[in-house]
Amino acid sequence: MNEKKYVSTRGQQRSLDFCDAILQGIGSDGGLLVPDFELDQKDLKALQHLSYVDMATEIMTSFVGEQEKEEMRALCQKAYGQNLFPQEVVPVKQAGDVFIAELFQGPTAAFKDMALSLLPHFMTYSLKKKGEQRKVMILAATSGDTGKAALEGFKDVDGTYIQVFYPVDGVSPIQKQQMVTQTGNNVDVVGIQGNFDDAQRAVKQAFQSSALKDLCDEHHVFLSSANSINIGRLIPQIVYYFYSYMTLVNKNEIRLGESVHFTIPSGNFGNCLAGVLAKKMGLPIQKFIVASNKNNILTDFFRTGKYDARREFYKTNAPAMDILVSSNLERLVYMMAQDSQKVKSYMDDLNQNGVYEISSDLLEKIQDVFKAGWLNEDEVLDTIKTCFEQTGYLLDTHTAIGYGVYKEYQKTSGDETKTIILATASPYKFADSVYKALTDQSLSEYQAIEAAYEKTGVDIPKPLVQLDQKEILHQKVIDKDDIIHEISQKIKEMSL
Ligand SMILES: *Cc1c(COP(=O)(O)O)cnc(C)c1O
Repeated sequence: MNEKKYVSTRGQQRSLDFCDAILQGIGSDGGLLVPDFELDQKDLKALQHLSYVDMATEIMTSFVGEQEKEEMRALCQKAYGQNLFPQEVVPVKQAGDVFIAELFQGPTAAFKDMALSLLPHFMTYSLKKKGEQRKVMILAATSGDTGKAALEGFKDVDGTYIQVFYPVDGVSPIQKQQMVTQTGNNVDVVGIQGNFDDAQRAVKQAFQSSALKDLCDEHHVFLSSANSINIGRLIPQIVYYFYSYMTLVNKNEIRLGESVHFTIPSGNFGNCLAGVLAKKMGLPIQKFIVASNKNNILTDFFRTGKYDARREFYKTNAPAMDILVSSNLERLVYMMAQDSQKVKSYMDDLNQNGVYEISSDLLEKIQDVFKAGWLNEDEVLDTIKTCFEQTGYLLDTHTAIGYGVYKEYQKTSGDETKTIILATASPYKFADSVYKALTDQSLSEYQAIEAAYEKTGVDIPKPLVQLDQKEILHQKVIDKDDIIHEISQKIKEMSL
């Protein structure tokens, strides 16, 4: 159909076009799909004044093919041009000397909306292009935000069924309430006794299981993924790097062509990886500052070149970043090393021994572009308080990690390059922590929303208003070892 092809980071998957890459969701060899073409160099001048929809159209077209441009425009219009987001889609605010790109203004008040508003349209477009007669079951493992954003994106979308797994004790009460009250006739949400990594591992296993494959064939179903292992999650995220940069150009904060840094609160590393793709397309990004919580495996990796998952898993006040297996790092290593044999051997090491270490020349290349740091839970609360007192900007716990890590970098390096912090959640999504940070008092989640509003006057996002009044529709909780069984039951039900 078109010339843009995708291959697996582990080198054992025949190349796929865009639609097959979206529908398949993951490499058949367990690797992740990546572009197998030189990325377009974008003309910055031509992008400077575009609306979000038009900019998204330009960027999506680079990944599908020029002949698909008008189709892409229609999809981007549906995702970003119809009041699911505010007019500017991604507002860029200022907090002291840093810029904050608010990625949380979408339908579920999470940054995941940026991609999951578009992915379902990519899916239906691809199903149609391929003349696909089977139904697709979308699997999503979530640390809190992907689940709700995916449910909202896929609910009542023809030809799809969406199955979400979340760690029953590993998400905030508000995140949980958002998911268990989800409406729609093709949605299901199941809690698991386990953590995010357990859920993500089971979902990856589901794609490798020949028994599930046979069952799917029998019932005319196939599996795909709504996690950032799906390349369809990453591509839409490139847009806001360009868009927030151009917002600063248009406000005369930077010159067109001037280099900036981006700071990214990171977990599965999809957000940052989209920035790496933006840089490859010519956006002048000098450094990525990768911020983590106490699960600081990424900080250690960027500092030492060793990815060592043999460590304790912590539940923190920034739960969307409580992750030890950061899937998209595999794509970064592939893109920097350009060697799928090497990636495969690293990933085999990780699977067998829980650890891999990259070569020193590769580490050096990576360290040219990446800085990393982390905050513990008390530092997160201190940062929220200090930032609010000093700048009037109210951070959520995740974005506070970005802010705190950046401030530390700025102080120790003396580097004054203009920096954009990607804000990944509304402060009201983690209202109890935010309120505690401001006042040192503990309130229940819903009281904290009201009280934080009284105290700060920052608007409460619409999706969170009266959330506690909604009817609970999904109560099921299973053991982490029963995920594959649960998926097979659902496959059988789907064809009924
Ligand atoms: C998903 C998420 C992150 C981490 O993003 P990755 O792309 O997985 O690195 C950070 N903060 C919030 C609030 C999130 O929902």
